[in-house]
Amino acid sequence: AAAHWESFLHRPASTGSGERVLTQVNVADPAELDHLDPGICDGIGLVRTEFLFHDRAGLPDEDSQFAVYRRILDWAAGRPVTIRTLDAGGDKPIRGLTGESESNPFLGVRGIRLSLARTEVFRIQLRALARAAALGPLKVMLPMVTIPEEVSDTALLLRDEIAALGKAGIDCREPDLGIMVEVPAAALAVERFPAAFFSIGSNDLTQYVTAAARDITAVAALNDSANPAVLELIERVARFGRHTGREVSLCGDAGGDPAMIPLLLERGVRNLSMAPAMLARAKAVIAGWSGPLPS
Ligand code: PEP
Ligand code: MG
Repeated sequence: AAAHWESFLHRPASTGSGERVLTQVNVADPAELDHLDPGICDGIGLVRTEFLFHDRAGLPDEDSQFAVYRRILDWAAGRPVTIRTLDAGGDKPIRGLTGESESNPFLGVRGIRLSLARTEVFRIQLRALARAAALGPLKVMLPMVTIPEEVSDTALLLRDEIAALGKAGIDCREPDLGIMVEVPAAALAVERFPAAFFSIGSNDLTQYVTAAARDITAVAALNDSANPAVLELIERVARFGRHTGREVSLCGDAGGDPAMIPLLLERGVRNLSMAPAMLARAKAVIAGWSGPLPS
């Protein structure tokens, strides 16, 4: 059966009615890219940068981050690359950075909340990203955004670091700044956010909508991205993108799940980012689906 899907891998994805669907890849560790052909995807929809902060004595410095971001852009060879700023906390604790005393870490200081609480760490990542943005089509995405001020505060920090880099004569560029839509408050009021693009994080969105943690097996049946309440939020965000011409993608596990893909297409999602191993089958599922865009 795998052989059947493999024939789809090297072709751009489109639906049975010929509508183009962008299929990008998620990257959790750049080593995954070494034996991967960039020609199989439309770019990288999500680089999780937590790996930079694992298994080390200290936190990574600007030059080592820049080197990693450059390597990823090189691999993508001109395709768009979306790098997410550190999403520490919740299910992703990092020694020396995340607190250990939260009773409910998924509702605590994680993602952009932590970055804005530790701006001395955040500024280093923003500098490395601004330098990398001078080398290729890099976009920067913020995790766990809940209120618009988190985006505007980050934009100020980014511009501040770009000004400092410029003064020092270091090449840099201001990348597009986008957000993960994974907190219900963001999905329900997406039009409030001053973001250049939006990527639905269905893993966290599902757990926050269903109040069933993503890492507790006993509630796994409740933690279901196909729950109509989750799908309604996804449809809402996709419609917002369509009506305003702003880019909306989806980068949670649902995006590569053959059972979920038809539901996402039905709700108007046309840009999916997934683990590379899911691409061939996902493209086959997309080709086998036909239906109209919702209004
Ligand atoms: C998500 O929440 O859907 C997502 C893509 O981010 P992560 O799984 O890294 O939290
Ligand atoms: Mg998430």
